[in-house]
Amino acid sequence: MLPGTGLAGHVSPEVSWMRAVVLHSLVVLVLALSLTGCASPESLDGAVAVEPSVVTAFREAITARDKELADLRAEAAWLRSLVTFQRGESKDSVAITMDDLETSPALLAIGIAKEKGAPLTLFPTGDAIIANPEWFLEAIAAGFEIGNHTSTHEVLDHLSLAEAEEQIAGWNAIARDKLGYQARFFRPPAKGGWADGKGLPHLRAAVARQGLVTVLWDVGTVWALFADGGPHVKGPEPSPQDVADYVVSMTRAGSIICLHEAIDTPALPLIIDGLRAKGFRLVTLSELLGCPPGP
Ligand SMILES: [Zn+2]
Repeated sequence: MLPGTGLAGHVSPEVSWMRAVVLHSLVVLVLALSLTGCASPESLDGAVAVEPSVVTAFREAITARDKELADLRAEAAWLRSLVTFQRGESKDSVAITMDDLETSPALLAIGIAKEKGAPLTLFPTGDAIIANPEWFLEAIAAGFEIGNHTSTHEVLDHLSLAEAEEQIAGWNAIARDKLGYQARFFRPPAKGGWADGKGLPHLRAAVARQGLVTVLWDVGTVWALFADGGPHVKGPEPSPQDVADYVVSMTRAGSIICLHEAIDTPALPLIIDGLRAKGFRLVTLSELLGCPPGP
């Protein structure tokens, strides 16, 4: 059974099984001792005889493995920092996202989307989660997704790496404490620092170090319709129908739609119905971007 011993043919299944169990137990014990450092093999009063050279070999193997993992983590962070999604590649799906969620229409929007079976991806601020954690717990229970939008909606473009990391890590801590949730995506408030679509390198690094991927959007209403009137507004204030017409006409397969609860909630039922009438499937960002299930 042991490679190189040439004994496999002479060992009964029971004996080889017992040998495997003993070896396995020894490995687990030595690993545990090496990792915790809570006892040395010499202090075991001879209960288990472990050669010091074996312990050294295991310690070296564990150190090498940890270094390998650290290298892989650093490489993953670097790769994450290079990726900024503005839309996904899909033949039939789109993702509706909604930002900020600090005001009461957020709850209405979650209820509408839930009722219609249209999963949203929500980017609440940390302040929004602290104020109304139950809204987001309800959304998570409904299969919606939550993303990081900084703890206090700081526009990041003038922040240092450390300051940006504080905003992003702060949100992660709030989501963990209040919702037991680990986000996968980050959206910079007002695209601050990502005006060119790629992001300032130190801000991308801050996001990636927190294990997140940046997601912008290709269809947004607030700047097109509300900021300065915009070409798609038919009256002085865009009606819910104006908003829905704009979103439905601009959306393509793979689109990431960015809404805000305070201005877009009245249009949400029309948007959902209009997108479905055009044959689009409404999915979370993870599904749109082809990420595996889980955090
Ligand atoms: Zn925002």
